[in-house]
Amino acid sequence: MHQVAFFCALFKSVTPETIGYLCRVKQVDYLIVGLGLAGIAFSEQCLAHGKSVFVIDSGVAGASRVAAGLYNPVILKRYTLPWRAEEQFDLARTYFKALELKLKVPLRIPLPVRKIFQSIEDQNNWFAASDNPGLKRFMNPNLIQNQTKGLEAPYALGQVNETGRVDIVTLQKAYASYLEQMHAFAKAVFDYSQLELLEDGVVYQEIKAKKIVFAEGYGMRQNPYFNKLPLVGNKGEYIVVRVPGLALDAALKSSFFIVPLGNDCYKVGATYDWTSKDILPTAGAREELIAKFKIVVQLPFKVIDQEVGIRPTTGDRRALIGQHPHYAPLAVLNGLGTRGIMAGPLLAQYLFNHLEHQQSLPPEIDIMRFPKKFG
Ligand SMILES: Cc1cc2nc3c(=O)[nH]c(=O)nc-3n(C[C@H](O)[C@H](O)[C@H](O)COP(=O)(O)OP(=O)(O)OC[C@H]3O[C@@H](n4cnc5c(N)ncnc54)[C@H](O)[C@@H]3O)c2cc1C
Repeated sequence: MHQVAFFCALFKSVTPETIGYLCRVKQVDYLIVGLGLAGIAFSEQCLAHGKSVFVIDSGVAGASRVAAGLYNPVILKRYTLPWRAEEQFDLARTYFKALELKLKVPLRIPLPVRKIFQSIEDQNNWFAASDNPGLKRFMNPNLIQNQTKGLEAPYALGQVNETGRVDIVTLQKAYASYLEQMHAFAKAVFDYSQLELLEDGVVYQEIKAKKIVFAEGYGMRQNPYFNKLPLVGNKGEYIVVRVPGLALDAALKSSFFIVPLGNDCYKVGATYDWTSKDILPTAGAREELIAKFKIVVQLPFKVIDQEVGIRPTTGDRRALIGQHPHYAPLAVLNGLGTRGIMAGPLLAQYLFNHLEHQQSLPPEIDIMRFPKKFG
């Protein structure tokens, strides 16, 4: 009898607007902001563990869309490995293979990556490094003599094993359609002022989520909850050139990369600019890349495009992962830096296990290494 009275009272106080809102509201486990390599990797973690997601992305080109898409575990400037390279690499390989099957689109393009040696000393450094137990798997000790017409490589080339390219533009398009089919995607700018924080989650417009994960790349600078974290950002520019007659079947690294795209076209770059943070192409970067390219490739070419992106880099070259210390439903997945393809899946896995299973994060990537940034 008491229960009946309770529900009658409740329904009298509920307005048609409230009922309409309750019908429209979508409840998910995770709201994700950003559909770059980070956001996709986190969404995949959630779905693989039976958690529901809703993803919002502005559609403004982030770093992922302009990246060359190379995966190569060796830092070719110093012949060293990035943080947890083998773990990152093996997980990324399984991850992209599974994504290809799920989305039914080819994403990985096998592509050798070769270093153009600058001197005999450079060659020797390669040999020494390829003997190192961590690097042995990836650095082929056999020199490759240059056979490409028009290419200057008098000290020969060294090849990295197990490398390739991911077609990130196709990945982003296919993943957005996949989410759309599940009514789990909106192309919109996330408005931070509309986020309501609850004890047990968040509400954003008509979405109620247990947690929200921000994966906005350099866009995090606008995020009032995490913008004090030291995301420095590094502007990178590529030119795309057409070089008839340059028959390259590998990506080459000199002081910059030359990445074959097919149809005589190559991506050349990228630049590293720590000061500008806009995404406007510059004449300076174009001239710098043309000058460098002319030294390595002695064939006529035409610049047909120029692309710009901001790498989400940090001062200590480590990612920014974790949960907000004052608002538990808020988390961040950022700082993928210059190697988002390899880093994304492992970082997403760390964050998921941290949020769901309270597993501690490696201190090097935990945002709580910067406690003062949260007041
Ligand atoms: C020139 C260049 C070349 C590169 N080459 C390589 C390479 O060959 N291999 C490699 O592994 N890595 C490469 N990188 C690095 C790689 O691109 C990054 O590590 C990676 O893309 C970062 O992914 P992310 O998801 O963190 O950020 P992003 O790709 O920037 O994605 C963030 C997304 O969030 C969205 N967003 C931001 N704010 C909001 C908001 N308020 N509302 C809604 N949406 C929002 C953006 O629109 C964007 O889609 C390169 C980067 C650059 C710039």
